[in-house]
Amino acid sequence: MTSDELKALVRTVPDFPQPGIQFRDITTLIGHGPGLAAAVDELAARANAVGAQAIAGMEARGFIFGAAVAVRLGIGFVPVRKPGKLPVKTIGVDYALEYGSDRLEMDPDGVSPGHRVVIVDDLIATGGTAMASAQLLRMAGAQVDHALFVIDLPDLGGAANLRASGVAVQAIMEFEGG
Ligand code: AMP
Repeated sequence: MTSDELKALVRTVPDFPQPGIQFRDITTLIGHGPGLAAAVDELAARANAVGAQAIAGMEARGFIFGAAVAVRLGIGFVPVRKPGKLPVKTIGVDYALEYGSDRLEMDPDGVSPGHRVVIVDDLIATGGTAMASAQLLRMAGAQVDHALFVIDLPDLGGAANLRASGVAVQAIMEFEGG
């Protein structure tokens, strides 16, 4: 499957969740067997090439791609969770959204100290989610220097912000605008 064919499987929904946002919906990509396999294969090849020892994915869409990549490589998966979901004492990072703030949490024993953990998510926009995840994983002792996305929205600057914090960023495809 070519990268153009893969890109064509992403559905664009205008004005969701609010006016002016072009929502890049991966539901149609993951519902297509060869498309899902091609995306996971591509992410897994890139994670392997940078020496991933574990994969971290953010709730909820990062779980879909991240867990599949981890299985493909035979390495562990670290869930980065929304607040209040884990049954153990957690570590957390609060981060700013355009309006308000949000929080991500994880099990502090979820990574082996010094292991290279590669972040996988469906999409990077402003980079707030990925930056908070990198911070959290580093607090837990992981080495975090690579993040992989299916989609980058480069006009929103998230990938540039993440790179500035020492994380190399790769994406399978880009869309213009926000
Ligand atoms: P951000 O923290 O701004 O990089 O946003 C990252 C998360 O928000 C991603 O995990 C996406 O699931 C979601 N997201 C943000 N903008 C969009 C968009 N235009 N289309 C689809 N999902 C989006």
